Amino acid sequence: MNEKTLIELREDIRSKEISSTELTKFYLDRIKKYDNKLNSFITVTEEHALERAKIADLKIAKGEVKKLTGIPIAQKDIFCTKGIKTTCGSKMLSNFISPYDATVIERLNEEGSIMIGKTNMDEFAMGSSNETSYFGNVHNPWDLECVPGGSSGGSAASVAASLAPCATGTDTGGSIRQPASLTGICGLKPTYGRVSRYGMIAFASSLDQAGIFAKTAEDCALLLSCISGYDRKDSTSSKKDVPDYLEECRNLDVPKKIGVPIEFLQNLDEGVAKVFQEVLRELKSMNCEIVDISLKSSKLGVSAYQVVAPAECSSNLSRYDGVRFGHRADNVKDILELYKKSRSEGFGNEVKRRILVGTYALSTGYYDAYYLKAQKIRSLISSEFNAAFKNVDLIIGPTAPDVAFKIGEKTSDPIAMYLSDVYTVSTNLAGLPAISIPMGLKNDLPLGLQIIGNHFQESQILSLARQFQEVTDWHKKQPSGLK
Ligand code: GLN
Repeated sequence: MNEKTLIELREDIRSKEISSTELTKFYLDRIKKYDNKLNSFITVTEEHALERAKIADLKIAKGEVKKLTGIPIAQKDIFCTKGIKTTCGSKMLSNFISPYDATVIERLNEEGSIMIGKTNMDEFAMGSSNETSYFGNVHNPWDLECVPGGSSGGSAASVAASLAPCATGTDTGGSIRQPASLTGICGLKPTYGRVSRYGMIAFASSLDQAGIFAKTAEDCALLLSCISGYDRKDSTSSKKDVPDYLEECRNLDVPKKIGVPIEFLQNLDEGVAKVFQEVLRELKSMNCEIVDISLKSSKLGVSAYQVVAPAECSSNLSRYDGVRFGHRADNVKDILELYKKSRSEGFGNEVKRRILVGTYALSTGYYDAYYLKAQKIRSLISSEFNAAFKNVDLIIGPTAPDVAFKIGEKTSDPIAMYLSDVYTVSTNLAGLPAISIPMGLKNDLPLGLQIIGNHFQESQILSLARQFQEVTDWHKKQPSGLK
């Protein structure tokens, strides 16, 4: 059963081959069996899940099925869940129980899905390896000594290890696509504004976007239809109609003209380049035209991102002061000490580093030198993408510079860690949608192919991804590290 896709499981449930309760128990059992090795969940919501599964079975018996009725799902612990702990991977929120559901959670609930747990993540989604979580690092199911990527590493590892058929994630600079690449699954970051951010704990609000993980492009299409759409509680959410992404990605012709940024291939690791060349051959045999393009400013993406994201986080995280939100320190003599002690105790090192950098970049005298400059680079990156999309339908490249690295390998070198996002941050800065799908193996570890589309062109991305998965079977490879 763990080899089945979400859509296959949905068929099995609808044809009553399996009940939702049986399916939910199957995944809960796998969590019990394997998660002590992976640490991909912060909270397992067994009781809640079994209750919901019972209700789903009653509905199925009456023929009342919605898009995801009876399907278990793992939720990143950045989404507020009513009555169930939401930690954001931080000591700061380690006891936080939200009084409401995030819109993404609400919509997935409405479609009948069943939350089986809240997944581990880098603290406040800051990280590329899942080593900054207060709840310990997550292990990659392909090699337990390696990181799963971050920040949505728990979600990615849980889907890769079939502890859940699908999961939610968030992507501010690559946190869905990079862990999808490192764990050999599909991860989709939609266009900025396609999915409501209400109830999703804020990191960098102009970049944050909710998305999903699953084993196939079709599964991602189905999930995207469930979570997308306008939400009056998020004024940046788009009013554009939500298409039936599954239908569209099945019926669209394969997008013809695919651009490959020359900058993405410069200094590329030899093994990754070899796998990518193989992909290009495959795409040509699918009648795609591959054209070289240039995204000159993408080289500056990480630098601009590492100013914009910390600047926004320094403001967003100011609410955690032990009074309004978050951990509250004991034994303090005045309010200033309360703020200081609560924040010192509640935040981990990476979060503190970002707050310091962000506050500095926004301070008088440095604002023009750093923040304004970063925003100018952001505009340049956007206009280069716009120009590129006048000439090509989609843009592709490797998702990450290499396969999963060893736990601890980059923790003492933040710059090396930040460079894990070199191919993903530009799309966030430009607000574009992109997916990572498995494209091959290097040293028995998975590598992801990134497909970037123009704003709101998710169907085109999914269509190419789906057709690639028709002629290749990289997405069917199972991790070997859990035996
Ligand atoms: N790895 C990036 C960072 O640490 C991106 C994180 C994210 O997308 N949430 O900021």
